[in-house]
This record gives sequence, structure tokens and C-alpha cells, in this order.
Amino acid sequence: MRYYSTNKEVKEIGLQEAVIKGLAADKGLFMPNHINVLDDKFYDNIHNMSFQEISFEVAKAFFGDDIPEGELKTIVYDTLSFDTPLVHVKDNIYSLELFHGPTLAFKDVGGRFMARLLGYFVRKSSNKRVNVLVATSGDTGSAVANGFLGVDGVHVYILYPKGKVSEIQEKQFTTLGENITSLEVDGCFDDCQALVKQAFLDKELNDQLFLTSANSINLARFLPQSFYYFWAYAQLKRLGKENELVVSVPSGNFGNLTAGLFAKRMGLPIKRFIAANNSNDIFYNYLQSSIFSPKASVSTIANAMDVGNPSNFARIMDLYNHNHSEVCKDISGATYNDRQIADGVKNLWLDSNYLMDPHGACGYLALKDMLQPYETGLFLETAHPAKFKDTIDKILNINIDIPLPLQQFMKKEKISIEISKEFKALKNLLIKEAE
Ligand SMILES: *Cc1c(COP(=O)(O)O)cnc(C)c1O
Repeated sequence: MRYYSTNKEVKEIGLQEAVIKGLAADKGLFMPNHINVLDDKFYDNIHNMSFQEISFEVAKAFFGDDIPEGELKTIVYDTLSFDTPLVHVKDNIYSLELFHGPTLAFKDVGGRFMARLLGYFVRKSSNKRVNVLVATSGDTGSAVANGFLGVDGVHVYILYPKGKVSEIQEKQFTTLGENITSLEVDGCFDDCQALVKQAFLDKELNDQLFLTSANSINLARFLPQSFYYFWAYAQLKRLGKENELVVSVPSGNFGNLTAGLFAKRMGLPIKRFIAANNSNDIFYNYLQSSIFSPKASVSTIANAMDVGNPSNFARIMDLYNHNHSEVCKDISGATYNDRQIADGVKNLWLDSNYLMDPHGACGYLALKDMLQPYETGLFLETAHPAKFKDTIDKILNINIDIPLPLQQFMKKEKISIEISKEFKALKNLLIKEAE
């Protein structure tokens, strides 16, 4: 498979280079130059397959030309060695729980897959160390750090906004040590993301170091996220509920939603998507007005979606040839403020005994508001509610348990380096560390 940049100003390149580069030199995002549709045989039999079996078939459609089959199988099976159950929530609404991995959030899937794929490329090629830079508003950092922990030849730098991630989130990446370094940036998430983008475009830095991104701008992070759309469909098919399927995706940087759009292009019968935003309503406004106008992010209780300039918007535009009305045929939007999210969590807990985290709640609310009675609704439950314990406890006036893996992180000591949001600070640090 060859990959082109959404800005179309650089040549197509192969998988290894696209994964190691992360972002194209023209600042565009890499896209596969064709999308393989899976055959009828696959879809006819999908409900008899396991999550790993399904994902391996999907992975072959993306990466089969570039990675030996046995290697790819190991990568897929290793990545997906945890539960991802479909849960009936109420009426015609289901939740796909993507939070049973090591850091209790869906980003474990992309984080682990990318770590294993990059580890494979590094082993196969140079001995030069690859430096992964990742900006996080909370969950990406922990998933990527835990995915990469101990991977030879790869060093990870996590950039996160000081004081803007929860203590539980922070502990999950600042306590690991080894090949993981946490940088506490005096700014917001958008500043962290801007720093990472600038680092990739800095010639001097890239002449000296191999730098790559593990944000969903990296195709190895976001493409594997298409696996679980197929898995959800397979489970709904077992129940005879797969027709008229509407998938609601809590969205921030739109990697997750974009992966779903790829699944649809590969023939997965998803009727339409809902992009569920918190108060960061940039995509919602785009759908209403056809104007995309990034703005500073605002802080919400669904903080992993506090994104003012969603990076995968470029991929969505590319998939739909920048045609607004075509986008609107497949995706509708929704936006919820903190009050609405809190009420959503509370009401569902009281009337159906299902506990959601604030991100999943946006997905659920969008279905509750927009799903037709003859449709089946699925929302992605993107994080374990206990990751947002303070928020949930306050909303429900209870004291929810912290799962064991999180308790273990909480006991360890935080180690981070504070830096300013000036690019110079990051650049000097990276150069010094590499010496
Ligand atoms: C990252 C994240 C999101 C948003 O996902 P995108 O792919 O960036 O749109 C939603 N919920 C949680 C819990 C997250 O960590």
C-alpha cells in the first residue's frame, strides 16, 4: 500500500516511512491510496468470528502487502488481548465497552497496535532510536506510554497540559519510567499539539533525530481503531439487531470517527454516524454551516474531547472530496455542555443502572436525542467511568470503586519535567536528551 498526504504536495510513500514520519512534510496527514472492500464471504460469516479473527482480516486489508502475515497476526492478537463487550443499555441502544484494556480507555487499541508495529519496523531497520512525541489531553498519553513501555529502540515523550488532566490520568504515564518521559507543559492541550506538530516540521531537529507521532495523526494509531466497528457489528448480527445501524462516536480529534468511516468504506453496513461533541463544537458548527473554524478549546468534564482544532478533520475532508453535503449524508452532529452530560450520566444510572463516563455520555445522549425507533443505536463507551472518579462521584453522590490496575498507578510516584509552551524549550530538551 502507498500513502499520500492530504495536502498532496509530497510523493506517495510506503507504510514503514508513513508510520515513522507520522506527519507528512507538507503538514498533511497520510491516507492509504486505496481502501480494500472486504468480500461477501467475510460479512456473511462475521458473526461466527472472534474479535481477533475479524481484526486480523481487517488488518490484512490495510497492511497485508507490507508486513508478513505471521508477524501481522502476532501484532493483532497481542493488541487485542482484552475484553470489548457489547452491552445492551436500554431500548434499541447498545454500548461497546472499549475500556477493559490496561489503561481502561479505547486508546489502548491504537496505542498497543502502533507500539508493536513501530517496534517491528525499528527491529527490522536501523538501530537508531526512534523518538515518539505525543500530545495528550489525558487518555492518549497513558495508552501510548503503556503500549510502548519497554519497546526496544523507541523513546516516548508525553506532552500534557499542566493542571488540566485528572490525577488518575496523570499517574498512568508519569509513573512508568524506563523509555517514557513526561513533559508537563505550561499551556493547554492545543499548545501541546502545536508543539508536537512544530517539532515534526523543524528541519534541524529532524536532521538529528528520528521523530514520530503517536497521536491519531499517525495512521498506525487510528486505522486499527476500525477493528472494533466490525466487532460491534458482528455481535449485533448475532442478536439479529444489525440492520439500520447508527453509530454514535464521542469525538475530540476525530481519529475514532475517521476509523469508523474507513470501516464503512470497506463495506461494513453502518447506515450513518453521529459525531458527539462536548462544548467544543467546531465540527458540529461545520456540519451546520459548512464553515470549519477552529478555535481555542474550552475545558469540560469530558476533557479528552477538549479539542479546538481536530486534526483528523483533514482526513474526513479528503474522504469526502471536501464536499459538505456528502459529509452530511453520512455524519450528523451533536453537542452537549457539562450540565447536559452530568444529567445524562445521572439519568441513565437512575433509570437503567448503567454507569457511563462523561465521554461515552455524549455518545449516548446523541442517540437518545436522534435515533429513530426502527434503528439500532450503538455508542462507543470510550473510557472506564472510574477514570473520571471525581466527576462521577460528584454527579451521583456516591463513591465509585477504582479498579485494581488504576489503584496500582495511584500508589506510584509522579516524575515529570516542566517546560514552557515555547518551542525552543522542547527543542533544546530533545537535543540534549539525544546526546
Ligand atoms: C481520546 C478520547 C476521545 C476522543 O477520541 P478522538 O478519536 O480524538 O475523537 C473520546 N473519549 C475518550 C475517553 C478519549 O480518551
